[in-house]
Amino acid sequence: RSKAVGRNSFQLFKSSMNARSLERLAMNSRFQHALENDEFELYFQPKQCLKTSKIKGVEALLRWHDPALGVISPAQFIPLAEELGLIVKLDLWVLNNAGAQLALWQKLGITAGRLAINISAFHLSQGKLSNSVEQMLQRYNLSGHCLEIELTESSFISSFSQAKKELQQLKEMGVNIALDDFGTGYSALSYLTKLPIDTLKIDASFIAKIPDEYGNSEVVAAIVAMANSLNLQVIAEGVEKPEQYNYLLALGCEVIQGYYYSRPLTQRQWLAFYQLKNQPTVTS
Ligand code: C2E
Ligand code: MG
Ligand code: MG
Ligand code: MG
Repeated sequence: RSKAVGRNSFQLFKSSMNARSLERLAMNSRFQHALENDEFELYFQPKQCLKTSKIKGVEALLRWHDPALGVISPAQFIPLAEELGLIVKLDLWVLNNAGAQLALWQKLGITAGRLAINISAFHLSQGKLSNSVEQMLQRYNLSGHCLEIELTESSFISSFSQAKKELQQLKEMGVNIALDDFGTGYSALSYLTKLPIDTLKIDASFIAKIPDEYGNSEVVAAIVAMANSLNLQVIAEGVEKPEQYNYLLALGCEVIQGYYYSRPLTQRQWLAFYQLKNQPTVTS
C-alpha cells in the first residue's frame, strides 16, 4: 500500500513539475515576444511638492498587456523576469523608452522635474548600468539632470564597491539617485553616508498605517527628520488619504506620491494632467 501511495505522489510531483517547467517555458517565450511586440507600456505617476503644490517629478511604472492574459502587474512579472534572466533586458527597454519620453517632453516644453525609473538590484550589480545610461542620454541628446534612478537597498548587498562606483558615475552625469521602499530593507543606515544618495522614498507600508496604528507616524517623523539633517530629499510613497497628506505637510515632508495626488497615468492622461495643472490661473 505504501508503495502505491509513493508511486502516486511521485507521479503527482512529476506532473506538477512538468506543469511548472512548461509554464516557465511558455512565460519565457511570451516575455521575449512581449519585448519585441510592444506589449509593454510605461505609465507615469506624478509626485507633488507640498511647498509649492506643483509637480515635482514623475515616476515611470511598467505595465504588461498580454493579448491573452490581459494586464499583468509588475509585482508578478518583475520576479519572473529576474528568474528567467531577462531583467536587464527589461530595464534597458524601460531606460530607452524613458529617454524617448523625455525627448518628447522637451519638445513639448514640459518642465515637470525629473523622470524616475526603477532599476533592479541585479542590474546594478552587473556594473554596466552607468554605461547604458550614458549611451541613452547621448542617443536622445539629454542631460542626466532630467533623470532619476530608483534603487532598493538590496542593490548594495552583493557588491558594495561595485554599486558605489556605478552610483558615482551616474552622479557625474547629473543623474539623481533615490532609495526606494526605504525602511523595509536591511536599512543599514551607513549606506546613506557612504553612497551618493539624493532621495529617500519612505515605503508606502508606513504611510498606509497613518493615522491609525500607534508608532507609525513617529517612524515617519523620524525618517523625515533624519533625511532633513542629512540633507537628503524625502518622498512619502502611497499617500491616499487627506489625513496622511495633512500629517506629512505638518511634518515638513517635502514631496508626496500616491493616489491622493494622482494614480499612475497613461502617456495621454499624463500630458492632460500636466496641462491642467499648468493652466494659467484666472484672476479677477
Ligand atoms: P515602487 O517603485 O515602489 O512603485 C510604487 C508602487 O505603488 C507602484 O506599483 C504604484 O502603482 C503603486 N502606488 C502608487 N501610489 C499608490 C497608492 O497611493 N496606493 C497604493 N496602494 N499603491 C500605490 P506598481 O506599478 O504595481 O509597481 C510595483 C513595483 O514593481 C514597483 O514598486 C517597482 O519596484 C517595480 N517596478 C515597476 N516598474 C518597474 C520597472 O520599470 N522596472 C523595474 N525594475 N521595476 C519596476
Ligand atoms: Mg519606485
Ligand atoms: Mg516604493
Ligand atoms: Mg518596490
